[in-house]
Amino acid sequence: MSATKSTKPSGRYSVFAIAKEAMNLHAGWRRAWASPEPKKKYKVVIVGAGGHGLATAYYLGRNFGITDIAIIEKGWLGGGNTGRNTTIIRSNYLQDPSAAIYDKALKLYENLSQDLNYNIMFSPRGLLMLAQTEHEIRGYKRTAHANHLQNVETEWVDPKRIKELVPIINIDGPRYPVLGGLYQARGGTARHDAVAWGYARACSDMGMHIIQNCEVTGVETENGAVRAVNTAKGRIECEKLAMVVAGHSSHLAEMAGFRLPIESIALQALVSEPIKPCCDIVIMANTVHGYLSQSDKGEMVIGGGTDGFNNYTQRGSWHHVEETVRALVETFPMLSRLKMLRQWGGIVDMTGDRSPILSTTPVGNVFVNCGWGTGGFKAILGSGWAMAELVANGRPGALAAEFGLNRFREGRFIDESVAAGVAH
Ligand SMILES: Cc1cc2nc3c(=O)[nH]c(=O)nc-3n(C[C@H](O)[C@H](O)[C@H](O)COP(=O)(O)OP(=O)(O)OC[C@H]3O[C@@H](n4cnc5c(N)ncnc54)[C@H](O)[C@@H]3O)c2cc1C
Repeated sequence: MSATKSTKPSGRYSVFAIAKEAMNLHAGWRRAWASPEPKKKYKVVIVGAGGHGLATAYYLGRNFGITDIAIIEKGWLGGGNTGRNTTIIRSNYLQDPSAAIYDKALKLYENLSQDLNYNIMFSPRGLLMLAQTEHEIRGYKRTAHANHLQNVETEWVDPKRIKELVPIINIDGPRYPVLGGLYQARGGTARHDAVAWGYARACSDMGMHIIQNCEVTGVETENGAVRAVNTAKGRIECEKLAMVVAGHSSHLAEMAGFRLPIESIALQALVSEPIKPCCDIVIMANTVHGYLSQSDKGEMVIGGGTDGFNNYTQRGSWHHVEETVRALVETFPMLSRLKMLRQWGGIVDMTGDRSPILSTTPVGNVFVNCGWGTGGFKAILGSGWAMAELVANGRPGALAAEFGLNRFREGRFIDESVAAGVAH
């Protein structure tokens, strides 16, 4: 392997490269990304090496030829929510601006492995959102109609079809029988770490600097515009600054002198012991408040709700584990026989209308991307695409146009509480 600080491109992965390395006892693989020391100045500084920050950098390079970029991360890349989520991907949102950006992301997901030359293990296995109350039936039928008009393929399915799709489900539960569901065949999962690693490798190959273990502690402005950031590795000047730090967005905004309408709350997930394949679809049960899919290793990956109070502990409250599992067991009785292996949490950034913020800010040349809340993994690609457009041009393109900060002042909310109320 080359030295950590090498900035040589990592080389193309291919069957020929594997064969060559096999004969070379795998001694010639280069590191997927370099870890250089920061320069004194960059054209663009992106704070946060989660999926959204890395994708922003990638599309700035790919679509706009801007590569003089530092992506600054206080921990390790992908160690925030990007590496902590339950990897659900779908685009069946109610409002037009949401459907547009999430479906852009889904279309990009379909080719991301080829685009990045990195296997992100995209698995479009189908996604089902269960209706277990009359209210949900109305909500999901409405979403199916809206999706039809948006050219997003979804369908309303009845309980009999659901039982065929998910044999482990109990559709006659005593409290919440399954009354139908919203099905998106193109939905599914991808390997979350691989998305971050694939983008990181591509960014590094374009000559961008990914600087890990380097917290941003201050933002310097001059004449109302950004001048530099202060970091654990010194002062770094920049012409443009993109804040892409999910649950820590309010802190970053405060450093630059403005406020954001978001709340930071822990959201948690857990996995069971691995079992034989028994569920080849992603299921969300929003009324009972849980969702699950089976990982390639056989674990049942289970997601629950957010804590009922704002906090920054990357754990989540214990009582939520009990609530989530108890609720899911009603609809999936076989889960009661499983041992749960581990549990974790991440800090999600919630807006009042449950839609993201991709926006200019009161500070010149400072842009913000946050508010993806409990459901931004699926959006990484569309968000990065739209954010790159915003940073490069200084104004939003069509995908980000409705997601500006002004909507909170002007009352133009993009209400996605039906689509994103729990979950993903
Ligand atoms: C338990 C859980 C389950 C989820 N399930 C799903 C799901 O199934 N599907 C879905 O679509 N979404 C899901 N999400 C939401 C999704 O994970 C997030 O919306 C998405 O990952 C946000 O990505 P990001 O790049 O904006 O943030 P992050 O990945 O959190 O990246 C932000 C980065 O900024 C860094 N940072 C913060 N402050 C600073 C600073 N001062 N200086 C430098 N760096 C800083 C952090 O260390 C972090 O690495 C889930 C989230 C959680 C927590």
